[in-house]
Amino acid sequence: MSYIVLARRYRPQKFSEVIGQEHVTGTLSRAIQLNRIGHAYLFGGPRGVGKTTVARILAKALNCTERKTSEPCNECDSCIQITEGRSVNVLEIDAASNRGVDDVRSIRENVRLSSSAGAYRIVIVDEVHMFTREAFNAFLKTLEEPPEHVVFILATTDVHQVPPTVLSRCQRFEFRRLDGIEVANHLMKMAREEGILLETGAAAILARRSDGSLRDGISLLDQMIAFCGHQITELDVITALGLIKSDRFFEITKMILDKNVEGTFAFVANLMNTGADLSDFIRGLMEHFLMLLRVNVTHSAEQLPLTPEEKNWFEQTAPLFQSEDLLRMLKLTSETELILRGSYNPRLRIELLLQRLVRMEQTIDIQILLKQIEALETKPSNVEVKKNR
Ligand SMILES: [Zn+2]
Repeated sequence: MSYIVLARRYRPQKFSEVIGQEHVTGTLSRAIQLNRIGHAYLFGGPRGVGKTTVARILAKALNCTERKTSEPCNECDSCIQITEGRSVNVLEIDAASNRGVDDVRSIRENVRLSSSAGAYRIVIVDEVHMFTREAFNAFLKTLEEPPEHVVFILATTDVHQVPPTVLSRCQRFEFRRLDGIEVANHLMKMAREEGILLETGAAAILARRSDGSLRDGISLLDQMIAFCGHQITELDVITALGLIKSDRFFEITKMILDKNVEGTFAFVANLMNTGADLSDFIRGLMEHFLMLLRVNVTHSAEQLPLTPEEKNWFEQTAPLFQSEDLLRMLKLTSETELILRGSYNPRLRIELLLQRLVRMEQTIDIQILLKQIEALETKPSNVEVKKNR
């Protein structure tokens, strides 16, 4: 039997199986139960968070012949045909490759055909913002006078490029980017079901790399299974993805706290010797500072995709910084990231950055400063003013 990628095998088939989009699936479920079905829906949000998956579940729920609740039964002919992508009542179009006015015309002809026995005819248009202006104009006519029993589901990663005239005719749903911890937990769950030993640290890294896209997280996990089989350690992931171990970022943070000016040169030399990609390093450093800032502000690393040891480190280290300083560190690092892209000598840039970080003067909390001044004012005898000669 050929290997089916995890993303396909684990694609949610019910509203309740969709991760992290309860605000959308809940509303849609209620609409189905109340039989209040709109003619057009617009699903906006980042890539890989479940827009087309929810569109297919909605299509199935609408046409399910055995439906008891708002969920599709996934067993009747209609459900099976939609799952297998061969239902005549569901038309799926990718607007990235079918963006012209002719493509919209063929949609209009398709929806004019009556569907089989009382079923809805559902048109799912992915990446709808890719339609040309003419295509949108032609499409708008269909939206204005939608044939009975036709439901349009438009999905897009860029709502702002969809004309307001189209938006105003759709019920709009915003899908959200997932938290790293949600992606990590889901990957752990999948691995368990697959009988794969996935280290917490490994799942945490995959989640961080997928940047809130569950689909990306799952395909990274697939990649890792291909790379290491049934046991995936943190080190495997670091090696396979060419990443830099978090210890290195902890090391830099310590240098900044200790004002260890000499240490940075040896650090960069070592980094070069291990063959690390400097752009990866700088991106990792930004991510690291961002997490420090987050823990500094929220006083908790609980919601971050990290191993227990890393969480511990962040919770102990973050309070040692002022948030203003962390912001400045992030700013310096992101400036270097921009420069690095066109730089002839990236090593020099990194060395400069580390020097600046280590030599950075700490922001003094204005409240503390005020208290110190007040203390001085109440005890004037303690103040010695030295005059310049
Ligand atoms: Zn069904």
